[in-house]
Amino acid sequence: MSSEKSKVYFGSFQHGRSSTFASFAAKLDKIVELLLEETPIEKKDKVAVKMHLGFSDGYQTIPVFFVRRIVEAIKKAGGYPFVTDNPTSVYNAVNRGYTSETCGCPIIPIAGVKDGYTKPVEINYRGIDTLDLAGALIDADVLVDLAHAKGHGACGYGGAIKNLALGGYSGPTRWRKIHGVSSLDEYWDKAKGTPELAKKLVESCPYGALSYDEEKDNLRRNYHDCRQCMTCLEIDGGLGAVKLPRESYTAFQEMMAIATQKVLETFKPEKVMYINILNQITTYCDCLGFGQLPIVNDIGAVGSKDIVAIETATLDLIKKEGLIEKNIPSYFKHVNLDPKADLHPFTRVHGPYKDPYETVQFVEKMGLGTSNYELIEILSPEETAKMEPPKRVFEGEPTFF
Ligand code: SF4
Repeated sequence: MSSEKSKVYFGSFQHGRSSTFASFAAKLDKIVELLLEETPIEKKDKVAVKMHLGFSDGYQTIPVFFVRRIVEAIKKAGGYPFVTDNPTSVYNAVNRGYTSETCGCPIIPIAGVKDGYTKPVEINYRGIDTLDLAGALIDADVLVDLAHAKGHGACGYGGAIKNLALGGYSGPTRWRKIHGVSSLDEYWDKAKGTPELAKKLVESCPYGALSYDEEKDNLRRNYHDCRQCMTCLEIDGGLGAVKLPRESYTAFQEMMAIATQKVLETFKPEKVMYINILNQITTYCDCLGFGQLPIVNDIGAVGSKDIVAIETATLDLIKKEGLIEKNIPSYFKHVNLDPKADLHPFTRVHGPYKDPYETVQFVEKMGLGTSNYELIEILSPEETAKMEPPKRVFEGEPTFF
C-alpha cells in the first residue's frame, strides 16, 4: 500500500441548513468542479460519461437531474460530453427519463448500433484469450466513470470498477466471458453423482441457483444466485459429486479487475475521473431491471481521481452506515446479522464468498491506485450550519428557468 493518500471528496445528503447553498446538488457541483480542475480537458475533447442507464422496470439509477449538472460542467470546461452504456440500455433509456434533451448531450451505444463496434484486447486469463472492448471508449479522449453504488449478486457490490469492467464491453464478452469465468470450475461430477441426487439438489437449493439437464446429466450452478448457504454440500454429504470452490467466486472479482485495467489502458491516467452516487443502495444491480427497497440508507456522493480510493471509501461509508434489516428481501434466508462478525453489509447479504473489497484489492495490486485515502467532506452539515445563507428571494411571479 502506498503511504501517499489519495483524495476522495465526499458530499453528504445530510444538510446543515434548509437552503439550496447547503444542498446535495451544491455539494456535487463542487466535487465535479474540483475533479475537473485536476482533469485536463482540451477544447472539443470527446468526454465519455460512462453510466449504467438501467434495464426495463428498474428506476433506481442515477437521477438525470445529477447527470445533466455533470454534463453542463464538462461543457463549461470545454469538453464535448456524451453519455454511454450498453446498446439496449441506451435504446430504452427514455423510459427511465434519459434523453439527449434531459441529459444535455448525445447518448451513444458503447459498442455500436449492433453491439459489434469493439476491439479485442488480450488478457489470457483462465483460458480466455481476449475481451471485446467497446469502441466508444476507445474513441473518447476523457473518461468520467459515473457509477451508482449498490449491491451485486455476483460479487457483492457494483460501483466504479463494475461500471467499466462489465459496462465497457460488448454483451457476449460481458455475459459469456466475464460472468462466465466463474462457471469454468466444474460444479457437478457426474461420475460421483446420480440423476436422482441432481434432482434432489435442484429442489433443495433455497435460491433456485441450480438447474439440471437430464439428457446431458449436467447440473449447473448459477453463481450469481448462489448465496453459499452450503445446503447442497450438506446433501452431498462428502460424496464429492458437487463442489463449491472459493476460487470460482474470486475468479470473477479478478476478471473484473483485469477488464477494468484494459479499459483504463486506453486513457491517459490524468484524463479519467470517478464519481460514485450512494443513493438507492439496493440488494441487486441495476441490470436486473426491477424496483427494490434500499438496504442501506442514502449516503451522498464521492469523487476522486483514484479508482481504488473511491471504491474503498464507498465501501467503507456503506459499511459504516450498515444494513436496513427490515428492507432485506424476505427470500434471503441466510443473511449473517451477527453484530460481532466484522463483515461488510454486502457480504452479510450475498454470502461469505462475495467480499466486495476483493476486486478493489486486485485493482490495487495492479498499481492502478491506493486504498490509502483521505476523505474530504465538502460543505459538511457542521460547516454549512455556521455559514450565513444568502438572502432568500421569494418568487414574485412564475419564472421559466
Ligand atoms: S450453496 Fe446454497 S445457494 Fe449455493 S448452490 Fe448450494 S444450495 Fe444453492
